[in-house]
Amino acid sequence: MKQIVKDLFQRKKFVGSGLVKASLSFMIAFMLIVGLGFGYILHSIFANYEGIRQIADLNTQLELLESSLINQETGQRGYLLSRRSEFLSPFDRGALNYKDASETLFEQISKIDMDLALENSIVDLVKIGDTWKTKFGDVQIEKTQAGAIVSEKELADAKRQLDLFRSQKDILTQKVEVLRAERRTEMLNHLYILFATMGTLFVVVQVLMLNYLQKGLLRITRPIIQLDRAVVSYEDGNMQERLPDYHEDNEIGRLVDSFRQMNEEMQKEKQALENTYRMINTLHQSRDLEEAYRNVLRSIEMLMSCDRMSIITQNPDGNFSIKAVCFDGMVSLEEQPLTEEATDLEQLVQGGVSTIYEDWSVHRAEGTITEWLYEKFKIRSSMHILLRKDNRIIGVLSLMSQEAGFFNTQKKDRLEVLSPMITTAIENANETYRIQDMAMRDGLTGLWNRRYFEHVFDTQFHQDKWNTEFELGKDSLSMILLDIDHFKNFNDTWGHPEGDLVLKHVAQILQQERRKADIPVRFGGEEFTILLPKTSLEEAAQVAEQLRTRLESQSPSRKYKITASFGVASSSGERSKAELIEAADRALYRAKYEGRNRVCVDQDAEVEL
Ligand code: GH3
Ligand code: MG
Ligand code: MG
Repeated sequence: MKQIVKDLFQRKKFVGSGLVKASLSFMIAFMLIVGLGFGYILHSIFANYEGIRQIADLNTQLELLESSLINQETGQRGYLLSRRSEFLSPFDRGALNYKDASETLFEQISKIDMDLALENSIVDLVKIGDTWKTKFGDVQIEKTQAGAIVSEKELADAKRQLDLFRSQKDILTQKVEVLRAERRTEMLNHLYILFATMGTLFVVVQVLMLNYLQKGLLRITRPIIQLDRAVVSYEDGNMQERLPDYHEDNEIGRLVDSFRQMNEEMQKEKQALENTYRMINTLHQSRDLEEAYRNVLRSIEMLMSCDRMSIITQNPDGNFSIKAVCFDGMVSLEEQPLTEEATDLEQLVQGGVSTIYEDWSVHRAEGTITEWLYEKFKIRSSMHILLRKDNRIIGVLSLMSQEAGFFNTQKKDRLEVLSPMITTAIENANETYRIQDMAMRDGLTGLWNRRYFEHVFDTQFHQDKWNTEFELGKDSLSMILLDIDHFKNFNDTWGHPEGDLVLKHVAQILQQERRKADIPVRFGGEEFTILLPKTSLEEAAQVAEQLRTRLESQSPSRKYKITASFGVASSSGERSKAELIEAADRALYRAKYEGRNRVCVDQDAEVEL
């Protein structure tokens, strides 16, 4: 209680402070009503009582008036009968008393609120008494003193005057009584009304108070009930239950607020957990390296979206380069070397701890890419998570934001927990890529093998693909098939290992001469092929001719010369894989037949050339 009063005076808000204040206000209102009401009642009682008492006094004065007149009359009659002067003193005393009583009476009636008729009647009564004295009392005494005899008639007249006085006085006494009774009734009625008004006010204030208290209590209990409901529903795993809409600055307001924050945190955590699961799932689904990079970037974006993310990994030569970048939701998989940044990256890797740069305007790595990001993309903070495998750092995840101080240790910890999974995903994809690459390459020459040829043909140049990548009937896919001349003899003469050298030599020339889109393949034994997308038969024949002359003029050793025969064929989408190979093979066969070391083009198409 002491604490509540203290808090109230310090104007602190606490649960129910409104109610306490309201109760106090109502209490004060009660006290005011009771105090003022009773004060007024007392005042009214005293005022009325005084009036009534004064009215009652009127009768006393009337009695006095009457008795003083009777005293005068007794003295007068005594004197008239006995002529003894001692009877004059009661007469004189009575006259004095009469005067006093009449003065008091006049004074009284001036104070009392009464109707004029009654007032006049009283004045008249006094006059009747006065008249008796002046007209009969004094006159008859003087007559007697002078020795004359007062006649019977004069005595009778005096008696009538006195009777008139007495009868008028009785009437007045009754009237005064009536007035007194009226005033008493008035006073009682007034009191009844006052009590009724006070009672009504009392009831109204009570009802208002009860109503206010009920509402106040509801305001306190409703949010608690809603909170309780929310807690129960959260226990059941339903996070959607609405929280009370209560914003007052008190214990409940703060409780609801904390609960809301807690709920938001829980929702975020839940979301983060779901994202993590999704991320792990996605990571494990990557089929190739590019997809792995893409998935890593997407997964991180699910976890914490920032303005720019990049994956930096180590190449077999030990250098690091940017492999993938996500910017504005767009993923770019073009490899970018790190130039001046390389030293900073090395330091980061050697330091062996993930790092946060909170404000690039104060501290940032040196280098062209960094400057470019700072100036052009307004990058202001970054976080660099090391990707480790068996205590070896294989790469770095760089996250950047245009907001200074965007990254914190919580975000860093979360990503660091996931970094082994990211590493594994990248490593797995790398391994898959390596195995797939191995399966598709020829071990001796390093060229693609026949399996790759089939695969690339089926995936990129299959007839169904025409019209998406190539225009059917217009674009041409050409194929050069070449076979080393008399290679059996060569082997027999110079030995198989030297033959292998020649095969490597041919492969090297094919690699060097090929254009970017061309696909050189070791087709089998000493047969090679090159697939030339978007290349006409004529252009392909020229490429073949260049190769032929280069082979003829360059050999791995001055001891011998080597030559090869070439068959060239093309398709504008009308030929199947087998048909194209067959056409190229036919042309090659012709080149052999016509004397080797030459280029022959597919005769079916020659007409069109
Ligand atoms: P032609 O001019 O008609 O093509 O005569 P050729 O001797 O080259 O005939 P053919 O195509 O029948 O001979 C292929 C020879 O290539 C047989 C084999 O000894 C040799 N050869 C196939 N694969 C390899 C290889 O991997 N290494 C070596 N050294 N020789 C190979
Ligand atoms: Mg052959
Ligand atoms: Mg041969």
